[in-house]
Amino acid sequence: MTASAERTNLLGMTRPELEAFVGAFGAKPYRARQLLKWIYRRGESDFARMTDLAKDFRAELAARAEVTVPEIVADRIASDGTRKWLLRMPGATGSEQVIETVYIPEPGRGTLCISSQIGCALDCSFCATGAQGFNRNLTAAEIIGQVWLANRELGRDPDGERIITNVVLMGMGEPLANYRNVLPAMQLMMDDFGYDLSRRRVTLSTSGLVPQIYRLAEDCNVALAVSLHAPNDRLRDELVPINRKHPIAELLAACWHYLERQNGRSVTFEYTMLDGVNDRPEQARELARLLRGHDAKINLIPFNTFPGTEYRRSSPEAIRRFRDLLVQGGVMATVRRTRGDDIDAACGQLRGQVMDRTLVRLGSKLVRLAVRA
Ligand code: SAH
Ligand code: SF4
Repeated sequence: MTASAERTNLLGMTRPELEAFVGAFGAKPYRARQLLKWIYRRGESDFARMTDLAKDFRAELAARAEVTVPEIVADRIASDGTRKWLLRMPGATGSEQVIETVYIPEPGRGTLCISSQIGCALDCSFCATGAQGFNRNLTAAEIIGQVWLANRELGRDPDGERIITNVVLMGMGEPLANYRNVLPAMQLMMDDFGYDLSRRRVTLSTSGLVPQIYRLAEDCNVALAVSLHAPNDRLRDELVPINRKHPIAELLAACWHYLERQNGRSVTFEYTMLDGVNDRPEQARELARLLRGHDAKINLIPFNTFPGTEYRRSSPEAIRRFRDLLVQGGVMATVRRTRGDDIDAACGQLRGQVMDRTLVRLGSKLVRLAVRA
């Protein structure tokens, strides 16, 4: 997606930004609202077809602006209806990179799982995206552009409603490490003139960037999911390295603050089930003790394998037993259904095509630089 040098890409601009943009050539603020409706609600990218805009305004727009979306390089559908798009992005070093967006159909709702970065620098030990390293942050246009494209590709249901009812920031990347671009994209998802999704239908998943959780509590009201994966710091330090900087107690304090500040219902804690690593009964009891009495839900994710990993998925019995122990321990827990794994579209399998910029050559060795948010 390369916007031309002279023209500004309107995709990704929030309502106030768009008002300022059109205001600069004398247009009233309501023009920005009309534009938002055309771009997001109707999925239009051609100003000439925005028929209720005055002709001279359309001409001004055509000269100064454009709506540029990422390019689809592949489109695959899994046996369960899960659909994955590969999108081409220009890379930080001029190279071409590919990111992934996944659509998951379920009875009564359609969820779009979007990416926030090309790769991820946080290096969680069980994640395919982390294993690929990091290239760059996505822009706000590239983030909201995934929703735009999926809406265009999926069309409308027989009642004329949009197919996508929920958006989760659970694709490639750590959304809170790209706060500056993720925030406007989420605002557009919830803007009345944008996608008009309710705050419960936009979910941000983070591995635990504590300062940014506090910042989010001031700026935006979305559902929060936190990747916990371990009931104590010893194990979490190993699985989710950012824990060494922001340990569990600090992370949980940020979560409860977020709920209070945003008047939210609960925080969802994601817990990937790794055979023999974090799936033992005493670990379930420890986890229940940690979260009991709080507005917390646990979502157990069966581990999805990828080439090069040594982890294995916990057995269905171990997962069931773990869930039962959590529930007995007083915490709500569900097991996430694995979707789209035959096209590598399941949680943690998204790899795209990432040229790792954090690898440096030290003598004859390639070493990964620790890039921490
Ligand atoms: N970076 C964010 C969001 C993307 S990952 C985060 O970490 O929360 C979305 C979820 O998938 C996270 O809970 C992540 O821990 C989990 N996940 C990563 N790798 C996985 C794997 N191989 N199998 C199952 N879940 C995985
Ligand atoms: Fe990054 Fe999330 Fe994967 Fe960790 S689990 S490496 S934070 S994408």
